Amino acid sequence: MLQLRSILTATTLIIATQIQATTIDRVDPPSWWVGFEAPTVELLVHGQGIGLSHPALSYPGVTITDSHSLPNSNYLSVTLSISKAAQPGVLPIDFSLNGHIVNHVDYSLEARRADRRSQRGFDAHDVVYLIMPDRFANGSRDNDAAEGTRDHTDRNDPDARHGGDLQGLINHLDYFDDMGYTQLWLTPVLENNMPGYSYHGYSITDHYKVDPRFGSNEDYRALADAARLRGIGLIEDVVLNHIGLDHWWMKDLPDQDWLSNRGEYAPTNHLHKSQIDIHAAPSDRQRFIDGWFDRSMPDLHPASPSLGNYLVQNAIWWIEYAGLSGLRIDTYPYTDKRYTADYCRRVLVEYPQLNIVGEEAPGRSDPVIISYWQAGRVNRDGYESTLPTLMDFPLRDALISALNSRTWSDGGLREIYEVLADDVIYADPSRLLFFGDNHDSDRLFKLLNHNDASYRMAMAFVATVRGIPQVTWGSEFEWSNERPGDGVKRLDFPGGFAGDTASAFTGAGLDAKSWETMNYLRTLFRWRRQSKVVQEGAFRHYAPENDVYVYFRTLGTQHVMVVMNNNNSIQTLSLDRFRETIGDAKSAVDPITKDVVALGETLKLDPKSALILEITP
Ligand code: CA
Repeated sequence: MLQLRSILTATTLIIATQIQATTIDRVDPPSWWVGFEAPTVELLVHGQGIGLSHPALSYPGVTITDSHSLPNSNYLSVTLSISKAAQPGVLPIDFSLNGHIVNHVDYSLEARRADRRSQRGFDAHDVVYLIMPDRFANGSRDNDAAEGTRDHTDRNDPDARHGGDLQGLINHLDYFDDMGYTQLWLTPVLENNMPGYSYHGYSITDHYKVDPRFGSNEDYRALADAARLRGIGLIEDVVLNHIGLDHWWMKDLPDQDWLSNRGEYAPTNHLHKSQIDIHAAPSDRQRFIDGWFDRSMPDLHPASPSLGNYLVQNAIWWIEYAGLSGLRIDTYPYTDKRYTADYCRRVLVEYPQLNIVGEEAPGRSDPVIISYWQAGRVNRDGYESTLPTLMDFPLRDALISALNSRTWSDGGLREIYEVLADDVIYADPSRLLFFGDNHDSDRLFKLLNHNDASYRMAMAFVATVRGIPQVTWGSEFEWSNERPGDGVKRLDFPGGFAGDTASAFTGAGLDAKSWETMNYLRTLFRWRRQSKVVQEGAFRHYAPENDVYVYFRTLGTQHVMVVMNNNNSIQTLSLDRFRETIGDAKSAVDPITKDVVALGETLKLDPKSALILEITP
């Protein structure tokens, strides 16, 4: 994509040496496209002394509108203005010192693929499947210890690399399709060339390079292309808050202002509410944003304009390059909220159909804090977010607590009902991402005390409540982390690695209950994939009585009725109360068993169960 050509002749070499030698070792972004809404791109050129040079370009429709050295003169910022009339091609950019050309770059300006701008994002039509690529499947053992990388590979060590990669995901696209998953959220796949504990991907050391232990940039694009052919989208996990300590910037920092506190370590106070609190002391707010997570993760300060541009352009580059369906932004509120609002706005201007989900995981979750960050509302302090989707931690906490309640007076399903009643505070509750667990939490099966019936109820709820459902790799067969530690939570998917005796792809070696639950979920999600009523239907619920909770999804004249019985005993449910919704419907179909169910005066409910019924007039 980028060709560097030294044009130092003998004469210019002498002059350049007398002034100052310049080199160019990279230009970010490494290429760009014609046809974006934003007319400019800011190139960051890196090389010895290059910041002192002056760029020049002669190309129809493209001009240099700004160039300046960063405080570190090994960086030159070059802003290109690209007119609508510009054609794809190679931009010849010369760099001069004192009137002498000392360097040259051929910069690639490419044509956009026709379908990129209209690329569909993820929404309530989808089921999102979360995967940590190191832990899913090892498709190539050749890259397990890629040249130049330092972390070790050892499957016996929960905190080491285990060898999973992008080829492993490409090899199992059939599996994702078979389970009814329509979106893959991969934890970050960019280079994490750290000395250790790098498998998770959240210590990025190069924003334009897939980690060689996962494969290449081309492999990432090949995965996105192959997935798209099956109707499966790819979501990139983006980290705006921090980088890995061994990021290449840290060896030659462009600008002290790119780091919070100008690079001085100070821990964050983790006070999530400081960002929404109208009474908050400014220093509390600032310490939340500027504080570091960890000494090994330098905290970024993207309010610094050149870094801000760098990160937005980086997201656009990957979306355009690979054809992504969206972004998941790590630790969303920890970055200056004026910046993140601008970041999402700029991405969505280029890709109006795309979606972005931000992680706001406050210790004690409630809808007030989550709703503050969702686009579509002017908050009391005047802040308007542009982030379409958040993770619904409050409903998830309520679900677990409700299903674990021992008695009806203990809370029970009323806890779910009351959190859903709080939907009044959200700009758009149908765009929340709903889940039982993720890569940072204990697994749902463990949280539900290994109760198969509770687990199936929870997953039926995930699949049918409003919002976008998300499932975590391994949880589909009731996997549970039994030992402490993040590395343990992130299991190697059985069957994905050479020598595995069990396989969740075939069911070999799984216990009967796990396999049964997995088949239940397969049926559930495959049904959901084609149920417009669940994907688009309005949500209406009835206050729980005797720990039985009933809700409907309704689209036109069609209903999906869900009945959750949280009792350990058979219950008889009178249908009178629901006739205002279902009219005189006489029968329904259970989409899981395909049984026809009579809708008479009552319904008999199994203990600890979720009954799903499709009612078509
Ligand atoms: Ca591998």
